[in-house]
Amino acid sequence: VTAADLDRAESLIRSIPDFPQPGVTFRDIMPLLADARALRDCVRAMIAPFEGTFDVVAGVEARGFLLAGAAAMLADVGLIPLRKAGKLPKPAAAESYDLEYGTATIEATEEVRPGLRVLLMDDVLATGGTLAAADRLVRALGGEVVGTTALMELTALGGRAHVPEAHVLFRV
Ligand code: AMP
Repeated sequence: VTAADLDRAESLIRSIPDFPQPGVTFRDIMPLLADARALRDCVRAMIAPFEGTFDVVAGVEARGFLLAGAAAMLADVGLIPLRKAGKLPKPAAAESYDLEYGTATIEATEEVRPGLRVLLMDDVLATGGTLAAADRLVRALGGEVVGTTALMELTALGGRAHVPEAHVLFRV
C-alpha cells in the first residue's frame, strides 16, 4: 500500500459539519468503505505493523466492527466484537468510560481468553476514551493487547494521551 493509495483513500472520508451536534465535524467513512480499493488498502495498512503478532482482531461497535471484520479475513484470524452495554446475552466483562455528558460502557464475551493476543480496531480516535476502555476490557479478561489501530486521529482532542501507542493512518 503506497502513500498515494492512502491519500486516495483519505480523500474518500466525508466531513460533515455540525453533526451530531453544532461544532462537531463528523468524519463519515461510508464513502471509503463503499470503495473496494480504499477499503482493502486501508485495512491492509491498519494491520501491517502488527502482522503475525495477534490471534484475533477486536472491533469496537459499530464502525470498528466493519474494519475488524475485513481485517480478520485478510489476516486469517478470528473476530471479537466489543459491544455497547446491553447487547450481549452473556457478557464476561464490562468497562465504563466518560463521555462529554455521562458515561458509556462496552462489554465483551468470554472469547477474550487469558493469553489471547488481541489487536484493537476502530475508525476514529477522538478523545481516546473508547479505545482506552477497550484496552482495559480485554486486559480485564486476561487478554494481551498487542496494538491499537484506527483509521483517523482527531489530534485536537488529545486522545493519544490515553492510547499513546495507537497506529493511525490519517491525522486531522
Ligand atoms: P472517543 O472515545 O472520543 O475516542 O470516540 C471514539 C468513538 O466515537 C469512535 O468509535 C468514533 O467512531 C466516534 N467518533 C468520535 N468523534 C467522531 C467524529 N468527529 N467523527 C466520526 N466519529 C467520531
